[in-house]
Amino acid sequence: MQIKIRSLAKKFKDVVAVDNLNIDIEDGELVTFLGPSGCGKSTTLFMIAGLINQDEGSIFFENQRIDNLKTEDRNIGMVFQNYALYPHLTVLKNILFPLEMMKINKKEALKRAEEVLELLQIQELGKRKPSQLSGGQQQRVAIARALVKKPKVLLMDEPLSNLDAKLRIETREEIRKLQQHLSITTIFVTHDQDEAASISDRILVLDNGKLQQYGNPREIYEEPSNLFTAKFMGSTPINIFDGTYTNDGILLKDNKIVSYGEKFSDLEINKVTLGVRPENLIVCKKEESSISAKVKHVDMIGKDNLVVFYIGEEKYRFFASPSDDIKSGDTIFLKFDKEKIMLFHPNTYESMS
Ligand code: ATP
Repeated sequence: MQIKIRSLAKKFKDVVAVDNLNIDIEDGELVTFLGPSGCGKSTTLFMIAGLINQDEGSIFFENQRIDNLKTEDRNIGMVFQNYALYPHLTVLKNILFPLEMMKINKKEALKRAEEVLELLQIQELGKRKPSQLSGGQQQRVAIARALVKKPKVLLMDEPLSNLDAKLRIETREEIRKLQQHLSITTIFVTHDQDEAASISDRILVLDNGKLQQYGNPREIYEEPSNLFTAKFMGSTPINIFDGTYTNDGILLKDNKIVSYGEKFSDLEINKVTLGVRPENLIVCKKEESSISAKVKHVDMIGKDNLVVFYIGEEKYRFFASPSDDIKSGDTIFLKFDKEKIMLFHPNTYESMS
């Protein structure tokens, strides 16, 4: 089911929750709405679900306008953070419930329920009550209940938030596998950029109700369209520097860091904000370096060491191999991976790369 959102807007009194949103979601895509708390993710999802009315704009499923339809007529399945299972009903009855509402005959309903129980590999849980299940199992039941109606669109609002870190990763992999197996158009809300990057075909980055960027995870990470997205993506924060543009290249304090040739010669201003991801600062010899600094501390992260240093008040990070043998208090010399430097307008923070 293809989804089109046009000029969608919602205010709560004077709070703009969603501001003129326009996006297309292709049939079978998994799109994540990503952004910090309060950026408008849930409000957008709830407008698509028909749980909140928009102030302006329209929503189409396959070119048919659906924003005037009731929730139950939109052909959607919903999964919430808190599972929202009926505590007094068994798992099987929880799953049968939406089919009873749809007045599907008992035999057919039972067949469908058994199919989804099998799909989510929870056949053995049918007779239990939700209180007798782990969080992960409850969420599977909630997903089964959403899918049993055979919806054309699956809407998931922070479905993994109540699970512990390891189970979150396992469950998101399972959701993605299931979503691809069923080819069901899915919208997944999260504030966790790792989760979004691992699960999505495309990510919609929101801030203050406004679209910041819409693209595949790699584009969003490697080619952020503004500083907000650059900072929001990446489990280890991006490094930010103030630079001064000259005809020869960009100067970072007193050091010439890189020459850009013609590419940026049309810049009207001489200040620029640079972004470099931690994996793109490289330990080098003093002669080649753009930065020298004293190491504040070193943390082990997986197979790498995460090295932290300060320039003034600003904190910087890069990854080093344990064989570099960097310790706190060492003076280090770093260069930039020139291909990977991001440039942002110093006033608007829009990408200039
Ligand atoms: P979170 O990750 O915390 O759930 P979110 O990105 O989903 O946040 P929304 O819940 O969509 O954000 O909220 C967007 C903005 O609208 C916030 O400023 C929020 O306080 C406000 N808001 C949401 N619902 C209401 C409401 N019913 N009444 C008043 N303000 C609301």
